[in-house]
Amino acid sequence: LRKENIMTDELRVNSDRMFAAFNELASIGATEAGGVHRPTFSEGHLAARQWFQEEAQQSGLEFRMDGAGNHSAVLVGTTDNALTLLLGSHLDSVPDGGRFDGALGVIAALEVLKTIQENGVHHKFRLEAIDFTDEEGTLVGLLGSAALTGHLHLELLQNPRGGRENLIEGMMRAGLSEESIWSARRPKESLAGYLELHIEQGKRLERSGIQIGVVYANVGISSYRLSFIGRADHAGSTLMQDRLDASLGASSFTLAAREVVMKEFPNCVVNVGNMQFTPGAFNIVPARVDVSLEFRSAEDSEFDRLDTALLALAYTEAKRFDLDFKADFRGRHKPTPMSDSVQRAFVESCDALGLTHTSLVSGAGHDGQSFAGICPMGMIFVPSVNGTSHSPYEFTKWEDCVNGANVLLQAVLRLAK
Ligand SMILES: [Zn+2]
Repeated sequence: LRKENIMTDELRVNSDRMFAAFNELASIGATEAGGVHRPTFSEGHLAARQWFQEEAQQSGLEFRMDGAGNHSAVLVGTTDNALTLLLGSHLDSVPDGGRFDGALGVIAALEVLKTIQENGVHHKFRLEAIDFTDEEGTLVGLLGSAALTGHLHLELLQNPRGGRENLIEGMMRAGLSEESIWSARRPKESLAGYLELHIEQGKRLERSGIQIGVVYANVGISSYRLSFIGRADHAGSTLMQDRLDASLGASSFTLAAREVVMKEFPNCVVNVGNMQFTPGAFNIVPARVDVSLEFRSAEDSEFDRLDTALLALAYTEAKRFDLDFKADFRGRHKPTPMSDSVQRAFVESCDALGLTHTSLVSGAGHDGQSFAGICPMGMIFVPSVNGTSHSPYEFTKWEDCVNGANVLLQAVLRLAK
């Protein structure tokens, strides 16, 4: 037993093999600018899924696809009825996205399984490298992981953000159906955990020169459509003091929201992503401005306070310009803390590998969120050069990618011992 411990501590992924797989995948749906274009169920995405299947089979792993289109490569456990430890990420991309977002996590998960398999290491779990369907939200967002964990709601399929026709048509192209999606659900008793390696998509690691970020929580995300309602008037003949100009409420709210968040909620972010003016003409005072508001926080009580503060602020700014105000709630994902046990396994692995690490929050949504309340889960980040992501210029040094894969490997070995 002692001998095996020494051996597994020294186990490392095969960097060259992983690099070859990464480059093969990056050539699928490749764009001229050096990124990839693989929105869910697009030609590039379907080809990437095909590549995954062949890669799994060629590696002697068991290939599996579920009713939500999640693709898996499985290394069967050494005992019957072994619980499943999932390692994964996603092969879909945003339009004109980068080569690393999602892809790195899938490639690393496959490499971890190959390494464990070829070294014949005992592992008490059934190990599964998984590519989740539609993480990025071309159609629904976190579709595959929500289906697997039973967090998918009928309403999401009936009113998906990417449009219902696109969803139905895309699923058909991938050989899936609305009915099949529900069959992807797995009993939570069958799951030992979910682990994911991802690029940071921010600058914190690069700025601090730290190699690995151990995520302690996924931020909660809340969104509202705010309406500032005034009155349309002639933009020439109406005196300034006689106007009920909806644009004033919307813009002063945007500026004030930034101030409030920076002063009172330094760990949170707020975004006004869109303003729609009605009627929207040079020569008409805006009667109405609809504002797309989104804000994020890593912690429940702070999230609630931020929600209250921003809505109160919007109301105050509307009244300041004698406007009517409406807030239409558009959805909320709760902040998701990562499991202590998985964070510990990551930290111990970093220490054993001599890699510097820090605890941080994920400001982006990830499939791990779907596993809240289902099984232990955790994520690690590797540095993104310049913090660039969702762009063809997204880049992570290969050395950092390999570091991340080795932490993933060592964490799996610790958890599956
Ligand atoms: Zn991603």
